[in-house]
Amino acid sequence: MESVARPLPNPNLNIRTLPSSSPRGSFTVSRVTFDQWRNRPRLRAGRHRPVAAVANPRSEHDVVVVGAGIIGLAVARQLLLSSDLSVAVVDAAVPCSGATGAGQGYIWMAHKTPGSETWELAARSKQLWEELAESIRDQGKDPAEVLGWKKTGSLLVGRTLEESYMLEERVKLLNQAGLQAEYLPASSLHLEEPALEIGKEGGAALVPDDCQLDASQTVAFIEEGNKQFNSQGRYAEFYNDPALSLLRSSCTQTVEGVQTSKNNLYAKRAVVIAAGAWSGPLMQSLIVQPNLLPNIPVKPRKGHLLLLENFKDLQLNHGVMEVGYIDHQVFTSSTRSFTPGAVEDDDNLSSISMTATLDVKRNLLLGSSRQFVGFSREMDESIVKRIWDRAGEFFPALKSLDNKIDKIRIGHRPYMPDGKPVIGPVPSLPNVFLAAGHEGSGLCLALGTAEMVADMILGNPITIDHTPYSVEGRFC
Ligand SMILES: Cc1cc2nc3c(=O)[nH]c(=O)nc-3n(C[C@H](O)[C@H](O)[C@H](O)COP(=O)(O)OP(=O)(O)OC[C@H]3O[C@@H](n4cnc5c(N)ncnc54)[C@H](O)[C@@H]3O)c2cc1C
Repeated sequence: MESVARPLPNPNLNIRTLPSSSPRGSFTVSRVTFDQWRNRPRLRAGRHRPVAAVANPRSEHDVVVVGAGIIGLAVARQLLLSSDLSVAVVDAAVPCSGATGAGQGYIWMAHKTPGSETWELAARSKQLWEELAESIRDQGKDPAEVLGWKKTGSLLVGRTLEESYMLEERVKLLNQAGLQAEYLPASSLHLEEPALEIGKEGGAALVPDDCQLDASQTVAFIEEGNKQFNSQGRYAEFYNDPALSLLRSSCTQTVEGVQTSKNNLYAKRAVVIAAGAWSGPLMQSLIVQPNLLPNIPVKPRKGHLLLLENFKDLQLNHGVMEVGYIDHQVFTSSTRSFTPGAVEDDDNLSSISMTATLDVKRNLLLGSSRQFVGFSREMDESIVKRIWDRAGEFFPALKSLDNKIDKIRIGHRPYMPDGKPVIGPVPSLPNVFLAAGHEGSGLCLALGTAEMVADMILGNPITIDHTPYSVEGRFC
C-alpha cells in the first residue's frame, strides 16, 4: 500500500489516500516545504536566537493564537464571542493539518473516569458542545450537517469476565456522577449491536447521551464563525506562516507578539501557544533564553485511523470502543499495564485498541493506534494491518472486506506524560498562555479549554478548577 498527500490548500493534509502513485507528499510553507520546515535544525537549548524583528509587515491585535487546530480555533472563537478583543490566528500550515484532521470525533464521557483530574473539564466541555449543537438547531439548521453531530450513544466493550466486571463498576461510577449509563451483558448487547461479537463472557457499558462530531466540518464551522469578525477588524488568519520567535521589548523583555516567517504580529493582551504536539519544542525555539522556560514535555503520539467510505456492509448503531483503550490513552512510562488482550509491542511502545464509528457521511472509521515515533507522517502498513485485524476480532463481518479501506488518517496526538493537558499562563513569560497536550481528547475538551483560556485572558472567574492543568507547580 502506498500513500499520498494532496497539494495545498487542503484541510486534510494528514489523510493518506489509497491507492496512489506517490510515496510521500509535501507542501509548501513560505520558501521551504512543510516537511523541510518541520525537520529544520533546532537551536540547542541555551543558544540564543536573534529576535530583532526583521522587516516583515507589521500588524496589531489584542491576542495572537499560534496553532489553528481545534484548540487554537476554539480559543479564538471564544474570545471573539465573549469579548471585544481582536484575534489573529497563525499556523505553520492550514487548519486540520495537525492531529485535529485525523480525529475520530468522539465527544464521550464513557471512557472518562469520574473524580479524575480531567473529569470536570470533560463534563464542562461536553455540555458546551451540546449547547452549541442546540443553538445550531435553534437557528433552524441541522447540527448533523453543520458539525457532523450525532448522538449515537457510546458502547465501551469488553470480552472477558475481568473486563465485564470492570465495566459494571464503571457504570456504577458513571451513575454516581449523575450520568445515564447501563451495563449490558452479551445477550442484551447483541440486540443493540448485532454485528458486534464479544463472546458469552463479555459485556458493555452503554452511555446513551454520548455524541460524536466530524472534526473537519466542525473546524470549517468555527472558522466561518471567526471570519464573521473580519469586517469589524477583529479577526485575521495567517496560514502557511510558521511562528518563529516571540517579539519582546528590548528594554523590559515583555512579550509583545509573534514573529512568523512573513509577519510581525503584535499582541497587546496575550499570546496563546496552541500548537498541539509541536508546543513543547516550539516553546523552546520561540524565545531567546529557553533555559529560563519550564520544559513542557508534550510529545507526539502518532495515530492511524482507517476509513471505509459510504459503508453499508454492516450495521453500526453506536460509537464502539474496547475497554483497553482507556489504559492505552492514559499510559505513562510508570504505568505499563495494558489490558489483557489488547495488542501491543515494545519497539516503539505501540498499541492498538479497537474503536469504530460511523460518521454522518456514512464513513466507517476504525481505530486506532498509538506510537512514539517522533513526527513521522509515514503510513505504517503493519499498524494498518493490526488495526484491521483487531476490528475484525470484534466485527467478524469485516474479515471478508479486506480491500475496502479507502483512506488512512494519520495524526500526532499531543501526549503529556502525566495524562493532563497544560492550560494556563507561563509563569516566566507574562502574557503568554499555553493550551496543549490534550492527547486523544482534544476534540472532546476543546470548548472547555477555550472557555478556560479566554476567561484567564479576560480576568473572568474560571468556571471549573483549572489548577490540575497549570504550568506553575507542574513543570517549574
Ligand atoms: C487517530 C486519532 C484519533 C483521534 N480521535 C479523537 C476523538 O475521537 N476525540 C477526541 O476528543 N480527540 C481525538 N483525537 C485527539 C485530537 O485530535 C487532538 O487531541 C486534538 O486535535 C489536538 O488539537 P490541537 O489543536 O491541540 O493540535 P493540532 O490539531 O495538532 O493543531 C496544532 C497546529 O499547530 C500548528 N503549528 C505547529 N507548529 C507551529 C508553528 N511553529 N507556528 C504556527 N503553527 C504551528 C500545526 O500546523 C497544527 O495545525 C484523535 C487523534 C488522533 C491522532
